[in-house]
Amino acid sequence: MAMRLFRAIGSQGSRFAWEVKDGDRPFTCPSCGVSVEHVNSYITKGEDARLRREVPACFRLTKGESHKDTCSHSVPGAVSILMRESEAVEDRAEPEFEVDRGQIKFRLNIPTVIAKKVKAASSEESFGQRTGRILKEGRLDNFVRSAVGLAQIWNAIEGSNERSQLSELVKIADRSKELSWSRFFYSPKSYPTLLKSLKDGGRSVAVLVSINEIYESAGDDEISLVHCSSVVLDAKTNTQVAPSLWIPNGLAERLVVNAQYIAFGFWRETKPNEWESQDKTRKILYRNVTLNIERAAQFARVLVPSEDDLEA
Ligand SMILES: [Zn+2]
Repeated sequence: MAMRLFRAIGSQGSRFAWEVKDGDRPFTCPSCGVSVEHVNSYITKGEDARLRREVPACFRLTKGESHKDTCSHSVPGAVSILMRESEAVEDRAEPEFEVDRGQIKFRLNIPTVIAKKVKAASSEESFGQRTGRILKEGRLDNFVRSAVGLAQIWNAIEGSNERSQLSELVKIADRSKELSWSRFFYSPKSYPTLLKSLKDGGRSVAVLVSINEIYESAGDDEISLVHCSSVVLDAKTNTQVAPSLWIPNGLAERLVVNAQYIAFGFWRETKPNEWESQDKTRKILYRNVTLNIERAAQFARVLVPSEDDLEA
């Protein structure tokens, strides 16, 4: 008996089960190197519309082989993983996408004090107790404790050959809420959707921004205003969605102009402003979406550009 694997090492390097192409064979276990084989996804209980579901592609042990006892995919290995402390995405070189009941869930553990407008977590929802509860339920979720972890997930998803398939599987859990990747993570292409979703006061989400200009304040407040690249909302009325960040000067120093970042926290819509050219022939209305950054955990640079970014 052994656990199913969703990632294995093929002749061309590491592959997710849903990425496999001809010529990737043979495969071995990424943890102990034993031989494994690829199983295609299939439909189970296809005859019953209510029970019908797709079983995702995976790898299984080649007949007659077994994982080493210390391997994380052997049963003793899996039990020891269940009993050890939960591991954050940040602790690994690359996030592992373990499909569980068709989903890959990452639990946010970024202190949401960040968001003053969000109700403080009850003691029931403190991280220690959450971990305990997950253990009691017999399963440990992956968790993410900073934007660095979000950036790692982003890089792994956007860099994958099966980007859309993978992003459909990924869910982000924030306290009692669970969001699909597309409802949590906004790249420039989805800024208009983000703006709409902030209508009722704002939300804790992650936004991919490209830094345009940083205005350091000379005053006592030591807060910088960071303008990020905007996208067109309505070409007819010349309206754009413009993200900006308020960030302590000390943290703003770490930002690089023209680089891309994931900025996580409580995003809200702020007052729009209009720009007019000197000869008054051109006008742009900026619909502003804003994030106050209070700690370094809220932003991280991403390495893999988004698909829509390449089109731009
Ligand atoms: Zn193994």
